[in-house]
Amino acid sequence: MNWFKRFMMGRYGSDQLSYAILILGILLVLIDSFIKTAIITVFIFVLLLLSLFRMFSKNIPSRSRENAVFMKIWYRIKNVFFKEKVKFQNKKTHKFFKCPGCRKTLRVPKGKGRVYVTCPKCGERFMKKT
Ligand SMILES: [Zn+2]
Repeated sequence: MNWFKRFMMGRYGSDQLSYAILILGILLVLIDSFIKTAIITVFIFVLLLLSLFRMFSKNIPSRSRENAVFMKIWYRIKNVFFKEKVKFQNKKTHKFFKCPGCRKTLRVPKGKGRVYVTCPKCGERFMKKT
């Protein structure tokens, strides 16, 4: 394995984006086994080449930038699902709505009647029925 260590020296290796590309490739292989289309097969091949290109690339700053962009998008997607999960878990005890001033999601306990809510982010004060 010494030759491989020497080969990989100064190369980028794998990161979260590489794993995401591989997982997408595996999913497409599974889809491809059900519906055989040339486009999916070509796309899988392109993903494999892209993954290998990124791993063996010596342009580390560019690959890091690509990964940073991917992670930013990934955290946004993850955050949306996390917020929806929290809303679902608290739907019996709390009411959720958006601040009219800054669009931040606010949480108020249910069954308190009409209450004045002050947004912790922008300080906007408004009345809501809970
Ligand atoms: Zn606000």
